[in-house]
Amino acid sequence: MQSLDIPKTSPSQQLTQFSRILVVEDEELIREMVVLSLQQEGCEVSIATDGRTASNLLQNAESNQSEFPYDLIVLDLMLPQINGLDICRWLRYQGSTIPVLILSAKASETDRVLGLEVGADDYITKPFSMPEFVARCRALLRRQRFSSQFQSPVLQYQDLTLFPQQCRVTIRGEEISLSPKEFKLLELFIGSPGRVWSREQLIEQVWGPDFLGDTKTVDVHIRWLREKLEPDPCNPSYIVTVRGFGYRFG
Ligand code: CA
Repeated sequence: MQSLDIPKTSPSQQLTQFSRILVVEDEELIREMVVLSLQQEGCEVSIATDGRTASNLLQNAESNQSEFPYDLIVLDLMLPQINGLDICRWLRYQGSTIPVLILSAKASETDRVLGLEVGADDYITKPFSMPEFVARCRALLRRQRFSSQFQSPVLQYQDLTLFPQQCRVTIRGEEISLSPKEFKLLELFIGSPGRVWSREQLIEQVWGPDFLGDTKTVDVHIRWLREKLEPDPCNPSYIVTVRGFGYRFG
């Protein structure tokens, strides 16, 4: 009799297999159970036993500019040195959309709401069952995998960082406030450093083909953008005028 060709891993295991998960938990017993059940699912697990170590791991990942090394963070709230809420808040402030599952001994509604308000994606109260924990991890990984297919990457040029998903821009780590048109202009520029754009091309891309105003609009918006970005707006280093053609970024 011919055997059926059934994959050895179930669809849900294929989802968790090779997922990179950071577990931040100071209680040894819980940490070991969590790590073991994730490893049984085929996950690659990194561990931090206090808030400082977790924050160092995440900051290194951030400054390496490489692909973010975790697909999910399992985060305890009450941690030595830096608490879980501050870690989560910091991650979101950096523009990271990595899913966060909070593990907490606190069961009250306000703590749950606070956890979700600082940008956690889900919340599980101790004591919890391992099957429930794994099911929640799977759900977050599935959501992450689905949404990352539609995610625009964070754009970086020198000390400027643009987060398309959050419509945020930081310069040397400090947030600057841009109007929607200024944001779209900058997004276009930063996506193609060195490219020369004519005023007509910028109108077409940012204002759309139906725009009826004249190209002076572009100059006005560039001036505003320079005032917000450039250390010396009269001597621009980011948005450079290319005489007779238009503008170039970088
Ligand atoms: Ca704890």
